[in-house]
Amino acid sequence: MNNSIALKISNLSKIYKLKNNKSLQALSDITFEVKQGEIFGLLGPNGAGKSTLINILAGTVIKTEGLVNVWGFDLDLNPRQVRASLGVVPQEINVDPFFTPKKLLDIQAGMYGIAKKDRITDQILELTNLTDKANAYMRSLSGGMRRRLLVAKAMVHQPPILILDEPTAGVDVDLRQKLLENVKELNKQGVTIILTTHYLQEAQDLCDRIAIINHGKIVALDKTENLLAEIHLKKIKFKIKNFKNIGDKLDNHLVIEYSKNNEISIKYDKTIINIEDIISKIKEKGLEIEDIMTEDADLEDVFIKITHESN
Ligand code: ADP
Ligand code: MG
Repeated sequence: MNNSIALKISNLSKIYKLKNNKSLQALSDITFEVKQGEIFGLLGPNGAGKSTLINILAGTVIKTEGLVNVWGFDLDLNPRQVRASLGVVPQEINVDPFFTPKKLLDIQAGMYGIAKKDRITDQILELTNLTDKANAYMRSLSGGMRRRLLVAKAMVHQPPILILDEPTAGVDVDLRQKLLENVKELNKQGVTIILTTHYLQEAQDLCDRIAIINHGKIVALDKTENLLAEIHLKKIKFKIKNFKNIGDKLDNHLVIEYSKNNEISIKYDKTIINIEDIISKIKEKGLEIEDIMTEDADLEDVFIKITHESN
């Protein structure tokens, strides 16, 4: 991975004008960069402003303020070069039902003015695992295949940056996995990836760096591992010999979660309490411990902490 900048967004704001003279600030003063070769995640709850940001890049929403630079091109000065540098897979799936996948990709390539001999349609179909559906009826494609077809469509002009808005929303588990593998493969081949998601696990598994966005503002931005390390929360799980309900709290701070297999788990702040103290509190309640398992906090904990602080 080199350190050149693929995307630079500076002080970007978007205010939607609504009816009866009202307005809605969807993005306020967003600034960040994405490096070439990265998989960069924009993580945030519904309504956070993720699609607004993507749509500004895609050219379907007009920004209110700020600067956008894509692959060295300024959005205001060189919108065509910006468009050529990006492949955007929108959140909404709508594929034209009248074309086969192969035909659709050919039409798209034509729209980008790519000569027949320079088209890589078959290669793209291969990469998105759609080769055997190349000439299929569109209505025979599953949701996951349609989503992959949109990825394929976004790649016909071989842009250096691929942007995916909630790529796995509404896609079932198996196909989600496949889609994410396709994305990783594209990244290995050198494509810079920017994706939005509200699935924490997905961002955690896939992204080199993550920006957490809430109410139109960036509330955290770091390497995924740093975001995870920043939080002091740990989880500990106990298998209990004489399993019984001892209430929902171990003390004022420590909440008990019960799960099957006679297990209870407790989240704790490792800067405040240590494991020995937790163990003795459990023994005080009359429980006999059979086994102990620890887990680090996951991105969900980080997310809850950060969005809570920024609300
Ligand atoms: P996300 O993709 O993170 O769910 P969006 O960017 O879709 O968030 O929406 C951010 C906010 O902007 C929401 O409050 C949404 O209702 C509002 N919004 C999105 N698109 C429009 C639009 N075209 N006109 C007015 N408001 C919009
Ligand atoms: Mg969205």
